[in-house]
Amino acid sequence: MQSWLEIRQDCDFSIHNLPYGIFSYRGKKPRPGIAIGEFIIDLKQAHKKGLFEGIKIPDKVFKKTSLNSYIALGQKVHRAVRQRLQEQLQTDNSLLARHRDKLLIPIEEATLHLPVQIGDYTDFYSSLEHATNVGKMIRGQDNALMPNWKYLPVAYHGRASSIVVSGVPIRRPMGQSRPNDQEPPIFGPSRFVDFELEVAFVIGRPTQLGEQVPVTKAEEYIFGLLLFNDWSARDLQKWEYVPLGPFAGKNFASSVSPWIVTLEALEPFRTVGPIQDPPPLPYLQTQGKRTFDLHLEVSILPKGAAEETVVCRSNFKYLYWNMAQQLAHHTANGCNIRIGDLMASGTISGPTPDSLGSMLELAWNGTKPLPMSDGTTRIAVNDYDTVIMRGYCQKDGIRVGFGELETLLLPTG
Ligand code: CA
Repeated sequence: MQSWLEIRQDCDFSIHNLPYGIFSYRGKKPRPGIAIGEFIIDLKQAHKKGLFEGIKIPDKVFKKTSLNSYIALGQKVHRAVRQRLQEQLQTDNSLLARHRDKLLIPIEEATLHLPVQIGDYTDFYSSLEHATNVGKMIRGQDNALMPNWKYLPVAYHGRASSIVVSGVPIRRPMGQSRPNDQEPPIFGPSRFVDFELEVAFVIGRPTQLGEQVPVTKAEEYIFGLLLFNDWSARDLQKWEYVPLGPFAGKNFASSVSPWIVTLEALEPFRTVGPIQDPPPLPYLQTQGKRTFDLHLEVSILPKGAAEETVVCRSNFKYLYWNMAQQLAHHTANGCNIRIGDLMASGTISGPTPDSLGSMLELAWNGTKPLPMSDGTTRIAVNDYDTVIMRGYCQKDGIRVGFGELETLLLPTG
């Protein structure tokens, strides 16, 4: 596909991608847009100019400050919009080309916002490598993996209110920890703030309470994917997690990338996941290519450093449990889902030492400090470090990427 718009070969936002986001520009109210090259297509203005003629889209949908109403229009509309925009981008003298000054907003000059209103957020724990590594540190080699882990996609319910978009700084949390087992616990700033490299999917179709989503249909309920940094305070987590699991060590902040990449855009990059042994119970069995070859990367940029240091290179395809299995399990008990809900994958660690998705694993619980480009070392995230996550698929000259998820860690306020 060739466009009259100049798009760099290595640009995440190619004509094959067309991810959705919410942007504001020149002090106006935030509204929906689609990223292309260095620009955002202003969907409200495009609709006004008649770009989507023949596609049933109510005016109000592109005036909203979240994508929820647009997502609710359903897959048929989303596909028609995508196709129309690809036609418009390929045709010289199309409506979009003729009105490009008004309809294309430079990304650099826009502010990006949370793309969806998130009702609920669930965090899975679906990487075999991550679960095994953490298990080894806590319980030792022999009991690393809990007996349930290979039978169900383990998860907990997170907190939606503290999810922020890329660019929004977060603060080192205060909390309770017990650094010395012989002494009582203490209260103070966390001494071990960590990132978790994750990918989250956005629910695109709701269910009723009591309804189950079969594993074979589960992908129809997914609108698209985001990069997700599930910030964690390891010292708080270690002390508090028994017996009910994650709480204050997790819910102080999670960060998401601003652009939702649709499943349709990811289609060319489908691949098979790991072999599942023992075979899952029938309600969780899937066939064929149920995951994506999506490269992931994490960098740390210390304050004042000239360049960032890449600390992790991983891939979405390493996950043991796929999204269809996660969603089928989540709804098997009748728990309902709503448009805009986020389901995060859990830390995505790979098989090699440089593919581990958290500092806890990369620096092996503080025993292997990581060198930074500025000569300092890290066992955790320091104050004024910026953590940057990136993700992209690339094949046969086609690139579909997620852009950046960038977060500055500030000291306790
Ligand atoms: Ca997590």
